[in-house]
Amino acid sequence: MKNTDVLIVGAGFAGAVSARVLADAGKKVVILEKRNHIGGNAYDWIDENDVMRHEYGPHIFHTSSEKAVQFLSRFTGWYDYEHRVLGCIEDQLVPIPFNLTSIEKLFDAQKADHLKDVLIRTYGMEKKVPILELRKSEDPEIRELAEYIFEHVFKYYTMKQWGYTAEEIDPAVTGRVPVLVSYDDRYFQDTFQKMPDQGYTAMFEKMLDHENIQVCLNTEAMDHLRVDAEQGCVYVDGEKFDGIVIFTGLVDQLLGYTNGDLPYRSLEFDVQSKAGQYQPVTTVNYPTPAEVNPYTRITEYKNMMKDAPKEKTTIAVEYPYKYNRTGEKGNVPYYPVFTDDSKAMYAAYVEKLKAVPNIYLLGRLAEYKYYNMDQITDAALAFAEKLLEK
Ligand SMILES: Cc1cc2nc3c(=O)[nH]c(=O)nc-3n(C[C@H](O)[C@H](O)[C@H](O)COP(=O)(O)OP(=O)(O)OC[C@H]3O[C@@H](n4cnc5c(N)ncnc54)[C@H](O)[C@@H]3O)c2cc1C
Repeated sequence: MKNTDVLIVGAGFAGAVSARVLADAGKKVVILEKRNHIGGNAYDWIDENDVMRHEYGPHIFHTSSEKAVQFLSRFTGWYDYEHRVLGCIEDQLVPIPFNLTSIEKLFDAQKADHLKDVLIRTYGMEKKVPILELRKSEDPEIRELAEYIFEHVFKYYTMKQWGYTAEEIDPAVTGRVPVLVSYDDRYFQDTFQKMPDQGYTAMFEKMLDHENIQVCLNTEAMDHLRVDAEQGCVYVDGEKFDGIVIFTGLVDQLLGYTNGDLPYRSLEFDVQSKAGQYQPVTTVNYPTPAEVNPYTRITEYKNMMKDAPKEKTTIAVEYPYKYNRTGEKGNVPYYPVFTDDSKAMYAAYVEKLKAVPNIYLLGRLAEYKYYNMDQITDAALAFAEKLLEK
């Protein structure tokens, strides 16, 4: 470990993609991963129902980045999969993101025609409009519709998911799920929507299968790594380490929580076996008040599979929690919670680390930002290529 060129903390997309690029260029790489598996949050496995289960929530690959597809296709084939989500609204299942079909299902024919007309005239077909923008419209009819959508799609879902109201949270969060002036009921509109044909874990196995890469599972990095920000150096097992450290874990943990704990949202999955088919699509959202449904969504994993088993199925009922690293529940950090305070705390940690020139922060935890899998693939490729230029 001490004699390697590059030490990487974390075997998710950030760690594995950069490891492979550096290994291909002849660098010796050691990856420390605290879990008992590779793949980070994209880890999947075949469960007792022959269902490909996504351990940390459903992961759908979608991108318009040719570079990410080209790189990942070295390690996997793909099959077509277009994700569709329904929302349980007024006891009906309607398309999410909320679109023209959702309007048809929820309003009487005359009103629906009128509302669709107003939206198309104002924004044009195939447009995505963030809910916060709709609510600010000058047109009272659009504002009325926006209030309905806000109440039935966003308000309670956001409160359950984030523990904050939609107004309190960064607009980028609600903006990610816009209202669609369209009949396209796919959740994503990217040009490439496919799943790895043997699953994500198999793809990671191939990516990390390289003579220059050594993966140490069940290895908490902080049992080996110590950062001395004042001296500007890193120690590995007590000895000064002059190689490169790529850290994809929690930056507050790396610095001993000296500026406080960065807030995250966590999740718990109540996984259940059922017979046959449970629901018509992979994900059904429950944007209802917590008193009605305390969970946010239910995922039926086999609906993402190419050859799904018929008789049995596995579902996961998803409950959001406030992240608590020592708690019995909610102890996995899933989503950064962006507030002015958390952004300032993160910036203070980054400032401190600037004194340590051989540590690099990469990935959704270390950079305290939301990355999709294609985005972190692109970011890790760009990062590793730049590192090799130095
Ligand atoms: C519920 C959920 C659903 C998602 N769905 C999608 C989707 O449908 N499509 C999509 O494109 N993206 C999705 N994402 C985003 C996707 O998970 C991320 O893009 C991806 O996981 C980022 O990879 P990463 O390597 O940065 O982080 P991670 O996958 O979290 O990997 C970090 C790794 O570092 C390890 N680690 C951390 N600290 C330490 C330590 N101290 N010592 C040793 N190891 C450590 C962790 O165990 C983990 O394995 C989803 C995310 C969530 C939370």
